[in-house]
Amino acid sequence: MPNGGKSLLIFLYSVKGDGGEMQTAHLRGHSVDLAIIGAGIVGTSIAVAAAQRGLSVAVIDANPTPGFGSTSASAGIVRVHAGDFASSLMSHESVFAWKNWRDFVGVPASEAAAEFVQCGTFILEDHNETLDKYAAVLEANGIGFSFLGHDTLQEELPWADLEKFGPPAHPDSEEFWKEPDGLIERALHTASSGYVADPALAAQNLAQKARRLGAHFVMGQRVVGASRGAGGNWQLTLQDGNVLESANVVNAAGPASIEVNRLLGVGNDFTVGQRIIRQELHHVTASEEIKNPAHIVDGDLGINFRPEGKDGFMVGSSGDPVDGEELISDSNKYRSDATRDGWYRQAGRAARRIPSLALTAIPKGVAGLYDVTDDWLPIFDKTDQPGVFIAIGTSGNQFKTAPVAGDFLVDLVVAQMNGVNTDEHPLEVHLKEAGQSIQTSVFSRLRTVNDGGMRG
Ligand SMILES: Cc1cc2nc3c(=O)[nH]c(=O)nc-3n(C[C@H](O)[C@H](O)[C@H](O)COP(=O)(O)OP(=O)(O)OC[C@H]3O[C@@H](n4cnc5c(N)ncnc54)[C@H](O)[C@@H]3O)c2cc1C
Repeated sequence: MPNGGKSLLIFLYSVKGDGGEMQTAHLRGHSVDLAIIGAGIVGTSIAVAAAQRGLSVAVIDANPTPGFGSTSASAGIVRVHAGDFASSLMSHESVFAWKNWRDFVGVPASEAAAEFVQCGTFILEDHNETLDKYAAVLEANGIGFSFLGHDTLQEELPWADLEKFGPPAHPDSEEFWKEPDGLIERALHTASSGYVADPALAAQNLAQKARRLGAHFVMGQRVVGASRGAGGNWQLTLQDGNVLESANVVNAAGPASIEVNRLLGVGNDFTVGQRIIRQELHHVTASEEIKNPAHIVDGDLGINFRPEGKDGFMVGSSGDPVDGEELISDSNKYRSDATRDGWYRQAGRAARRIPSLALTAIPKGVAGLYDVTDDWLPIFDKTDQPGVFIAIGTSGNQFKTAPVAGDFLVDLVVAQMNGVNTDEHPLEVHLKEAGQSIQTSVFSRLRTVNDGGMRG
């Protein structure tokens, strides 16, 4: 018996919302085909895809409920524009799943399912002339978009002051208060983009589907050790000392993935680095109902915001230097509420664009962690350890592609089970709705850092 007499256990967790109690079943001597570390939106999507292919699956998460990691802090924005072709295409394919989410996850009408609000995205012209770059990517991927001039944009967004306030500045600085420098003359619009208001519920819906397909969920247990047994299987030690044995393991641990890579002994050959960044999202409310609420990418002010309720928005930073980067060294130790300074910087800039915002003295918002790579693209790949796979580096922007990421990763697992070395022979993953394919090498751990990646 592995681990000093402890049993090989699988805990079956109830996700029915009936109090969250644990049920335990002792599957002594059994191992699974695939263990997934992390029950966020990515891990649960992989669980569904793997169970659909007939693999036996166990998902382990330190939290009591799926979706309680970075996923729960997410703004849930599903934008189809990107600086690179593959990300844009994966988002486009995912929109088909988000639009039909209840059917996609098979949740009956009597139960709660996450809702996709297809509000569209307006990308305002900025100081880096990115609009044409996005347009070229959208065009090549066959994704609908249009350009709007100032007057049409103003008709679409009657609540917005469409003057040029940038470049982005801190509300404490003189530059912030300088006179506007003309008008926003151009914007790019994608009608298919939108947001999911309850990202954690989306992960729970996927977990429900995975369970119906036979996947086991081991909740409230952290993986604290990993080793490869004599027979080649992986033995994952849980915090209570029990051991879960699996032929293959996926690290889908979100911001903790750097630490989990260390446990699994992978990372030495990666050419793409990872870091953890703390990110705040602020809830702002206007004093009037917002007509035609939409997701706005406002490079002029270095923020982006999406509707929240009838009169509000969730405002995040687009990563301008004015917001800096708050690096975190331990994913378990960070401040999860919004700070006054973050609120002042982000909500203050939003108030220039939306003059009817009623800013309160008390910040209202959340903070979460981005698991960021050097090029802001994820890493979905095998590793140099047999049977170890990674779905990491989701860089503050991979909630949106999660419905597709599961299949992408499981294609890699199945290929290795069939003896294919995907480092030497990358796969073509076919995207059914988009009618196009992408190569697995674009998200490889061994890629050349891509300068087309786009920040969260
Ligand atoms: C503030 C914020 C806003 C965002 N906005 C957007 C957006 O608008 N659009 C978008 O597409 N993306 C957005 N993102 C990014 C997106 O939310 C993440 O990329 C996505 O949720 C990551 O999902 P995940 O499953 O990889 O990670 P997580 O949701 O973090 O899940 C990882 C899980 O692993 C578990 N875990 C970790 N270590 C262990 C261990 N050792 N043992 C067991 N379990 C472990 C954790 O408990 C956690 O539940 C945002 C992120 C943040 C923080």
